[in-house]
Amino acid sequence: DSVSAGPITLLTKLKQECATPLPLLQQVADHMCAQMRAGLASDGGPGLPMIPTYVHDLPTGNEKGLFYALDLGGTNFRVLRVQLGGKDERVIATEFEQVSIPQDLMFGTSEELFDFIALRLAEFAAKEDGRFHFLQGRKREIGFTFSFPVKQTSIDSGILIKWTKGFAVSGAVGRDVVACLNEAMERLKLDMRVSALVNDTVGTLAGAEYYDNDVMVAVILGTGTNACYVEQISAIPKLHGHVSSSGKMIISTEWGAFSNSLPLTEFDREMDAASINPGEQIFEKTISGMYLGEIVRRVLLKMAEVGGLFGNSVSQKLSMPFILGTPDLCAMQQDNSGDLQAVGSLLYDKAGVESNLSSRKTVLEVCDTIVKRGGNLAGAGIVGILQKMEENSKGIISGKRIVVAIDGGLYENYPQYRAYLHHSVKELLGTEKSNKVVIEHSKDGSGIGAALLAASNSIYK
Ligand code: ADP
Repeated sequence: DSVSAGPITLLTKLKQECATPLPLLQQVADHMCAQMRAGLASDGGPGLPMIPTYVHDLPTGNEKGLFYALDLGGTNFRVLRVQLGGKDERVIATEFEQVSIPQDLMFGTSEELFDFIALRLAEFAAKEDGRFHFLQGRKREIGFTFSFPVKQTSIDSGILIKWTKGFAVSGAVGRDVVACLNEAMERLKLDMRVSALVNDTVGTLAGAEYYDNDVMVAVILGTGTNACYVEQISAIPKLHGHVSSSGKMIISTEWGAFSNSLPLTEFDREMDAASINPGEQIFEKTISGMYLGEIVRRVLLKMAEVGGLFGNSVSQKLSMPFILGTPDLCAMQQDNSGDLQAVGSLLYDKAGVESNLSSRKTVLEVCDTIVKRGGNLAGAGIVGILQKMEENSKGIISGKRIVVAIDGGLYENYPQYRAYLHHSVKELLGTEKSNKVVIEHSKDGSGIGAALLAASNSIYK
């Protein structure tokens, strides 16, 4: 009947289904930890992918020379160069350019995508000014940040396992992405060399650790999400006795694939079913920027259709997938005015609906519910990683300062999301432990980090 399906009833149900009380968050953290352990034991079995990165050492600070970085992993593509001056001079000069990835390239062929990347790189490399010192007789070396699941067998090669975050480029899955880039560079007669292939979490970890040695975990919360951390080789059975002088390796958890004990709703299930990767990346679909706006849109559509949230008519626009972006939720949640004018305008402009104060308040509550769930779960995931690190360091971690570096447009720009994340980490750890855990924003550290890893893995060392 119409009463039981009114927007307020639907909101109450949504809040119940999305609730993240402490015991649930603890369960998520415990499951994350267990799934990490399972993923380290064997490949292709249960558990998270836990991809070995073949990065054994983080930058020392002694890195010197000119290095490039490429970053492909979401809405933007970046090229960067940096002149490194070693311990004293550190980063002498840096310069970068960014372009958004043309939509058609996300659905085109592998050659088209890599030709685009190589061309932008060639144009950028042609504009080196006097602050950058290229040593004749060498190749310019690149740290390539490629933020999709890749199976690495060395620091400078890796096979694409699958696309995520809305990419569906044909002919790349199963191939070495460094070879794909090399072939595109050869077609352009561009004589550069990839010395390190990393994902953005690893780049962020390296870039942040360059300035603060206590950084041991890096998290990306942008269009998609992932996390990496420093693991003991002895705790990675699937490497079968692989050795490194440091005894450590950075592991890319691929935690976006996590799915245990998450509080999901019909809206999540329907969005997943309609996605290009149904059944996959469930944690990513619950906590990352590409999806939060779309979940809210689906809730609002149901509230409009079944509960008459915006009166009798349901706008055509509100039925269009991804018409509401996460930045829109963020913009609405910053509206502190009495009549929620900005919320009203945004709903009208983006979703084509007329709203009154009461429906605007309901919309804000829906946003808060979805963003709270996302931020809290992201925090629980971080605590799961800390628990895993604690487990095999036998107390080395506890009591020591440990820094979690976070980057990505969602974390950077959405204050409510950030607050929920911090809150859940604090709640789960308790005051004493959480005082030792520093969560910091590492802005755009991944580019410099990738260049630093190109330097520490240079063939000219
Ligand atoms: P990438 O696409 O490589 O992850 P970013 O880290 O810059 O790039 O993240 C971009 C994502 O961050 C966007 O897709 C969006 O979901 C989110 N985002 C950007 N700006 C905002 C904002 N103002 N509020 C909330 N989320 C935002």
